[in-house]
Amino acid sequence: MPLVPMRQILDEAAKGGYGVGAFNVNNMEQLQAIIQAANDTNSPVIVQASRGALKYSKMIYLKKLMEAAVEEYPHIPLAMHLDHGNGVDTCKMAIDLGFTSVMMDGSLKSDGKSPATFEENVEVTRKVVELAHPLGVTVEGELGCLGGIEDGHGAGLEGDAVNEHLTDPGQAEEFVKLTGVDALAVAIGTSHGAYKSGRKDPKTGEILPPALAMDRIHEIHKRMPNCHMVMHGSSSVPKELVDIINQYGGKMPGTFGIAVEQIQDGIKHGVRKINVDTDSRLAITGAIRKVFFETPEKFDMRDYLKPAREAAYAVYVARCKAFGQAGHAGDYTPITLDDMKKVYGY
Ligand SMILES: [Zn+2]
Repeated sequence: MPLVPMRQILDEAAKGGYGVGAFNVNNMEQLQAIIQAANDTNSPVIVQASRGALKYSKMIYLKKLMEAAVEEYPHIPLAMHLDHGNGVDTCKMAIDLGFTSVMMDGSLKSDGKSPATFEENVEVTRKVVELAHPLGVTVEGELGCLGGIEDGHGAGLEGDAVNEHLTDPGQAEEFVKLTGVDALAVAIGTSHGAYKSGRKDPKTGEILPPALAMDRIHEIHKRMPNCHMVMHGSSSVPKELVDIINQYGGKMPGTFGIAVEQIQDGIKHGVRKINVDTDSRLAITGAIRKVFFETPEKFDMRDYLKPAREAAYAVYVARCKAFGQAGHAGDYTPITLDDMKKVYGY
């Protein structure tokens, strides 16, 4: 079975009323953990590579790894997605290599730092749609800006700036109409990474988890019931995973994530793709630290990468169940990019 267009996975998720985890991949162990979890929970799955991942592993290696995953488990619908493309050229490169979906993040200028204007965003996103749809490739756009550190994901707003760049529901409607995107990443106060931009408790000055503007998702869903929304920066940053890291010599103070319950509320209101990256990084780092700490004489990489892969697997299984995609891999017949072209009218 070929890789499927992400649009099909999202359309089916909308029909079934569930969300689908989009898991970031950087190397073989991570991808093996993802596909194993998808197989064991019978889940359709989205695997995505950020620009940072492409730089680290090279696009061709990631592509071949994903092809291997599809060959090993041919009954699992898998979409191969470019996360945070920063221009038409990057998106085109991914499409040429056979990615079935690309994100054009036009919310930021091509430097990946400064917020772009609405018009600039529409223009560059529409260009990517015009390039992708005739080939059957899905396009995700983004309106509003996310927070977080610059780590190859692109977005880099901090503190109050995050809340000044939330997605405006009216603008979202216009954006989808003008660009023709298949999926819309919304900014509702989430940030990338483990150190999410929090809010200050007015009384104690303590930094609390971000208050998510879920009402924006509700409003967008009301205006556009068929729009597939994407939540970025949606790792839950479980305390038990951070604790393992810190227990074995790590130093990760003051982390917090997005509660699974909030994501589930989003799924009830049109969120179909949920990006999770940090949680698997935490699981992997904790597992490796534990081996290094407990058995410092070990030097065979398999001794620490195997438990790392198992720890990541447990995270993916938990997310597939929580988002509702578990059990749905066999609901539909996967289509090809060629089939998808016809759906777009080409
Ligand atoms: Zn993102």
